[in-house]
Amino acid sequence: MSTSLPVVNEPATGGCTDAPVLRERGQREVFCGLTGIVWLHRKMQDAFFLVVGSRTCAHLLQSAAGVMIFAEPRFATAILQDRDLAGMADCNAELDRVVAELLARRPEITTLFRVGACPSEVIKLDLHTAAQRLDRENFPRVRVLSYSGSGIETTFTQGEDQCLKAMVPHLPAATDGQRRLMVVGTLADVIEDQFSRLFSQLGIGPVSYFPARRASDLPPVGPGTQLLLAQPFVGETVRALQARGATLLQAPYPLGADGTTRWLAAAAAAWDVPAEHFRRVTEPAQTRAATALQRYRGALEGKRIFFFPDSQLELPLARFLSRECGMQLVEVGTPYLDRLLTESELALLPAGTMLSEGQDVEKQLARCEAQHPDLTVCGLGLANPLEARGLRTKWSIELVFSPIQGYDQAGDLAELFVRPLDRSARLTV
Ligand code: SF4
Repeated sequence: MSTSLPVVNEPATGGCTDAPVLRERGQREVFCGLTGIVWLHRKMQDAFFLVVGSRTCAHLLQSAAGVMIFAEPRFATAILQDRDLAGMADCNAELDRVVAELLARRPEITTLFRVGACPSEVIKLDLHTAAQRLDRENFPRVRVLSYSGSGIETTFTQGEDQCLKAMVPHLPAATDGQRRLMVVGTLADVIEDQFSRLFSQLGIGPVSYFPARRASDLPPVGPGTQLLLAQPFVGETVRALQARGATLLQAPYPLGADGTTRWLAAAAAAWDVPAEHFRRVTEPAQTRAATALQRYRGALEGKRIFFFPDSQLELPLARFLSRECGMQLVEVGTPYLDRLLTESELALLPAGTMLSEGQDVEKQLARCEAQHPDLTVCGLGLANPLEARGLRTKWSIELVFSPIQGYDQAGDLAELFVRPLDRSARLTV
């Protein structure tokens, strides 16, 4: 047995484990949790997301996932109108009718999520109880679940956390105590396939992905289930899985060559994979990733980057950009700093990194302008004003929508940060 698995780039410092964090609770500029539907509906191809909300919600979804208007969509918004305010009973009956029509017309749907939004008339509806009733009426043909993607309760990526948490009570119980790996957080299918091949070569298994490609393929959970997180925004889901007996493997996220190696190493250690075998399996991919990164390192090295809080990917991205691309971190903001999910990332950030949690947007904009970083990662709402002030920006939403995890995407991930700098250089005369 060997647990001393090889890792690259040992931390040169004590990291940011105990670093002070600036906590701000002012006005914030972030997307709401409905945005998660864009990638969740692509991943779970037998699921339908019915948002109960307003025209604003419908516009958000339509513009964020506009390509779906050409296909049979797997999300829709039931828009509450003024007349719905008159009587809640009518409203529930109307929603029941919409659901019944939808399920009759779309036999391929096996899981229906009713997603709450923030208009006050929606908040008055008890979507959870209604979903339980519809579930009793339609299961086993269709599972009906509910969660909130409201901008009052959730930011951007928290929508996925709420969606997965709603599924946890329905996962089958694994009572045999068998060691099994569950990768938690949405991954593009192509990346899931790459990781499955590596796990198989390492002798790690059985492996399940949560969410799976079909929402009805619910992975078993119980004592013996080891959780390896693919996304840093699934904290409530993790706690719900722990309550069902699962154990969390501490690891950084699989961004970059080093991050992916450490991520795989955490699973390999739990499966007692010999270090030499681990090296043999991962070395070719590590070399490929290092070569791909080398191509972009020159353009990023020494450049100063500022993260506004948006996707919760900020800490892993900052770690990747500082350790593997040589960038300097001016400020790393995150909507929430969940230490259960970020312990390994904090340890790998350079000591002295300015960390902030939450937002007071005017103050943060002032800090950013004063520092004038080479590149700013932010939400769409801040990008244009920052560009107008001469700052180069990268939209954080692009980093959530793009396949960026794993060895074979390490170069592509670095390139995403090179592009705005490159564009800026071309525009400068
Ligand atoms: S849920 Fe709220 S924040 Fe999100 S689009 Fe609808 S109204 Fe806007």
